[in-house]
This record gives sequence, C-alpha cells and structure tokens, in this order.
Amino acid sequence: MNRTQRDKNRRNAAALASAARAKVLMGHTCENCGEKGGHWISTRGISLEGLVTGLDDSEGFWTCPKLYGDNGRRLAA
Ligand SMILES: [Zn+2]
Repeated sequence: MNRTQRDKNRRNAAALASAARAKVLMGHTCENCGEKGGHWISTRGISLEGLVTGLDDSEGFWTCPKLYGDNGRRLAA
C-alpha cells in the first residue's frame, strides 16, 4: 500500500469516527435545554469514592447554546 492510499485511509477513518461520534451525541437529549445533541462534555466520570458515598463528583462542562451569549460568554445562571 503506498503513502497516498494510507493517508486516504486515515482521513476516511477519521471522518467515519467523527460521524459515529456525532450520531451518538444526537442520541442524547440535553438535560439543560431539552434539545437533541450532547451538550454536556464529560472530562472525568464519577469516581469510585463518589459511587460509594453517592456524591456525584464527575467533572465536565456545558456546550449548550442556551448557556452562552452572542459574545461567547457564559450567561449568569
Ligand atoms: Zn442544551
């Protein structure tokens, strides 16, 4: 397999992966605005300690458009 073909395969694989990710996200309904799409980006899941104590210590951030103004700043809750 030559280099051009390998690069093409890599691009194709990356495109398929992002399409699959988008499909998974669209299966989620946003808890904040109720629209389709994963508007919560989880950067760390709940820890084992969190599971034991029942305290949700997972971390992440919202990408929900309802939480940000036109200037991109987070709106006051
Ligand atoms: Zn949302």
